[in-house]
Amino acid sequence: MTVNLLDFDLEGLAAFCEQLGEKRFRAVQLFRWIHQKGASRFDEMTDLAKSLREKLPSVADISDLPVLSRQDSADGTIKWLFDVGDGNAVETVFIPEDDRGTLCISSQAGCAVGCRFCSTGHQGFSRNLTTGEILAQLWHAEHFLRKHLNTSDRVVTNVVMMGMGEPLQNYTALVPVLRVMLDDHAYGLSRRRLTVSTSGVVPMMDRLAQDCPVALAVSLHAPHDALRDDLVPLNRKYPLSELLDACLRYLPAAPRDFITFEYCMLDGVNDQPEHALQLLDLLRKHRGSGVPCKINLIPFNPFPDSGLTCSPRPRVLEFARRLNDGGIVTTVRKTRGDDIDAACGQLAGDVLDRTNVAERMARRRDSVARPIRIVRTERQA
Ligand code: SAH
Ligand code: SF4
Repeated sequence: MTVNLLDFDLEGLAAFCEQLGEKRFRAVQLFRWIHQKGASRFDEMTDLAKSLREKLPSVADISDLPVLSRQDSADGTIKWLFDVGDGNAVETVFIPEDDRGTLCISSQAGCAVGCRFCSTGHQGFSRNLTTGEILAQLWHAEHFLRKHLNTSDRVVTNVVMMGMGEPLQNYTALVPVLRVMLDDHAYGLSRRRLTVSTSGVVPMMDRLAQDCPVALAVSLHAPHDALRDDLVPLNRKYPLSELLDACLRYLPAAPRDFITFEYCMLDGVNDQPEHALQLLDLLRKHRGSGVPCKINLIPFNPFPDSGLTCSPRPRVLEFARRLNDGGIVTTVRKTRGDDIDAACGQLAGDVLDRTNVAERMARRRDSVARPIRIVRTERQA
């Protein structure tokens, strides 16, 4: 059995080098080859001591995830479906914009939280991804994009843990992932360009504040407990007042002085004028002075059997206006990658039926050969 070097942050890699009888500083060289240059073979690593280069292949590897498919959207969004074994697949989405390139990464195969409006939640939980499997999504996307855009500049400038899964229910694997993303010898992202999105795993929010306080997005979706209990079942364990307390405790460590609340707009469910008023009340009055925050309204992306529909556009805009007028900066998320089902909550929707997974994957494999078109953004051109 070889060790996957994508499983290590720099500290872990240094310990591994020591175990091999090598100096710890070798780890920095190795780390840079892997993450900055995208090397997948040790014989490429020309400035690494020959003894180490010869030792490594028998004990270690750099293990990419097999790509089941790659699709590109007319708007430049790219979606990968990665095979994580046993009929499980996870998705990663790259969203190019004029001034940034955002990668949306998965943390679990499936999800145990089971939110009503989320297709991943409807799939149920398969397993946690390893550190190496989460990082491979960035490693693969970054170096694929650099090659195809013919650039040595960084392409992924922002990472959001908003793919499949609840990142704070895979905490042990997540923390080294974040450390590698932040490390200047690897991807060098700033803490404000790295966002963990959570449905509200309160104890782990506190630990994240201690261990690796990156930007935090909290999936709220409802202005009171009765509705949130129904939409986000985790609310029964950590109700709104505890969740908002945890947000207040997180803020002093956070890279920004506000929390982003995500709110999925569901027709007739949580999108009425009274919901906007209740939301304003909740967020402005919690513990007297409220929670410093911004709100991001996400138009619901429908999927089969959800029994839900998206609020009509005018109602979404009206809801945003009420919140803005009430003093909370509110934006409406642009939907990207619609034509390839890359939008929030649609991820791996078509591998939902697990009995069909092998057949579907075979079909996907056939589609890998399709040429892909990459739309260059201004910054990358
Ligand atoms: N589990 C984490 C992160 C992954 S979900 C969380 O829940 O925050 C990322 C975001 O997509 C969350 O805000 C989630 O509520 C939202 N989302 C899930 N399904 C959606 C759907 N069908 N339409 C729109 N947004 C959705
Ligand atoms: Fe899990 Fe997030 Fe989907 Fe809820 S919205 S089921 S927490 S992935």
